[in-house]
Amino acid sequence: MADFSHLLDGYRRFRTTGYPQQRARYDALRDGQAPKTMIIACSDSRVDPALIFDVEPGQVFVVRNVANLVPPYETGGGRHGVSAALEFAVTQLEVEDIVVMGHGGCGGVAASLAHRFEDAGVGEGYFIRHWIDLLDAARDEIEASDVANPQRALEEAAVRVSLANLRTFPCIPVREQAGRLRLHGAYFAIADGILHVLDTATNRFRPAAS
Ligand SMILES: [Zn+2]
Repeated sequence: MADFSHLLDGYRRFRTTGYPQQRARYDALRDGQAPKTMIIACSDSRVDPALIFDVEPGQVFVVRNVANLVPPYETGGGRHGVSAALEFAVTQLEVEDIVVMGHGGCGGVAASLAHRFEDAGVGEGYFIRHWIDLLDAARDEIEASDVANPQRALEEAAVRVSLANLRTFPCIPVREQAGRLRLHGAYFAIADGILHVLDTATNRFRPAAS
């Protein structure tokens, strides 16, 4: 059972094995980070980018949220956590790649397709609703089609929505055009553990070479 005492057990294992193994890396990172890649992934407990991409501390700057979504560039109201992380990664860390990774069995996508939380009050799903409504247009399009697997289709569409919204931030297209930043779409299929990559030529996902 993953209660807090189990986390502390894990921490003790980290102190006796992982930390000594990574000691040189942590020493090198002590005064700052300089990751070259930002990853935007779902908060889902099964899709940890550090595990899937087998990266070390200091290599990837990660934002995780419900359904791996990026909001459009908006300056009014609210607290823009994703936008702040994005701005920091792009303009301060000057990352060279941004990866948006969707995944199979996404609860946020399922909620969108089920129209859950649409009348929810605060404390009952209001914040979820007003986050996954970023998928409404894509969801409506899929509902109006006869696609065989709407869940998979919207999971993939969520990646495309986030990539499109990334490009509404002025700091992104200017760097893309200068060849200093590349955007990538990815999809991790939990059922078989296979990563798919969005092919920009076809706008379709295909399995990454393993
Ligand atoms: Zn998810």
